[in-house]
Amino acid sequence: MKIDGSCHCGYITYRAEADPDKTEICHCTDCQILSGTAFRTLIPAEDGTFEILSGQPKIYVKTAESGAKRVQAFCAECGTPIYASAAEGHPKIYRIRAGTVRQREQFVPKRQIWLRSQQQWAQDLACIPGVEVGKLPHSPGCRPYLSRAKRLDTTARMVVINEKSRNTRG
Ligand SMILES: [Zn+2]
Ligand SMILES: [Zn+2]
Repeated sequence: MKIDGSCHCGYITYRAEADPDKTEICHCTDCQILSGTAFRTLIPAEDGTFEILSGQPKIYVKTAESGAKRVQAFCAECGTPIYASAAEGHPKIYRIRAGTVRQREQFVPKRQIWLRSQQQWAQDLACIPGVEVGKLPHSPGCRPYLSRAKRLDTTARMVVINEKSRNTRG
């Protein structure tokens, strides 16, 4: 579908075509730092459809652990990240920062990558109490946040209980 978007100050505007089913969340540490938060949501533009309509993004080239160079484009006026793409090679895939897309509500992430560096609390956003008037404090049926260690412990205990019940039965 056709999408368009802009940075916060409006200096940079763009348009592209993108498939909502390709929306993904990246939990890598670079995304955490470059976004200033826990993860980044990305929408890859279809080949050859990304087009800057106004403004000139500032480019920062980051080098990944693998040695791959990635272009990070952002607005030099307001700091909004716009897209990332490979520094060399074709076709160039523009991975648009979902928050800048006007139609972002239709782009629900379909997969998550780099889960090994995920911030643990980001697994249970619905369990973090909200304070907005008129909103539920958290999802009904939401279990309180458990650390990964505790989860493993709970799983281990469940296994033990299962073993025990099996032993009793046998
Ligand atoms: Zn801007
Ligand atoms: Zn990432």
